Amino acid sequence: MTDSPSNRDATEPDCLFCQIASGRLPAKLIWSDDQAVAFLDINPWHRGHSLVIPRRHLGDGAASPQAWHEVAAGLTAVAERMKNHLGASGINYLSNAGAAAGQEVFHFHVHVIPRYDDQPGMARLMSRDPAAAQDLDALAASLAD
Ligand code: 5GP
Ligand code: ZN
Repeated sequence: MTDSPSNRDATEPDCLFCQIASGRLPAKLIWSDDQAVAFLDINPWHRGHSLVIPRRHLGDGAASPQAWHEVAAGLTAVAERMKNHLGASGINYLSNAGAAAGQEVFHFHVHVIPRYDDQPGMARLMSRDPAAAQDLDALAASLAD
């Protein structure tokens, strides 16, 4: 899909993240504006691991400066809440573009990953923590304002 203004509002009926953005599928929403939505990742690497996505469908952000503008407010708002409400002391931003890069859901998304002092460093970025997947309702509530 290209980035022309004519398809800025396009959604794909079968796309998982289009369905989350439109409310047709449930997710632990933590932030939204008219252009983007943020929600908890279902399989978190660290407590509070979230995704920020544009409301419109776009496969990835590699060729679209506009798409990054659409998610920018969410990227900063969510990171601030992770620091203020979860005690995160660092943030990783990650966006996989293309299957070779590990992308599995082909609707542009940016991982916002809060990092804590007890598991520092890049080598620990993708270490799955079962505790991070617990109490997602409470976690979403604490990140939602
Ligand atoms: P990718 O590898 O495409 O960058 O990452 C996709 C992310 O989406 C993964 O971290 C995965 O856990 C997350 N994910 C996949 N399906 C769902 C879902 O139905 N709900 C939520 N909240 N996250 C999902
Ligand atoms: Zn989509």
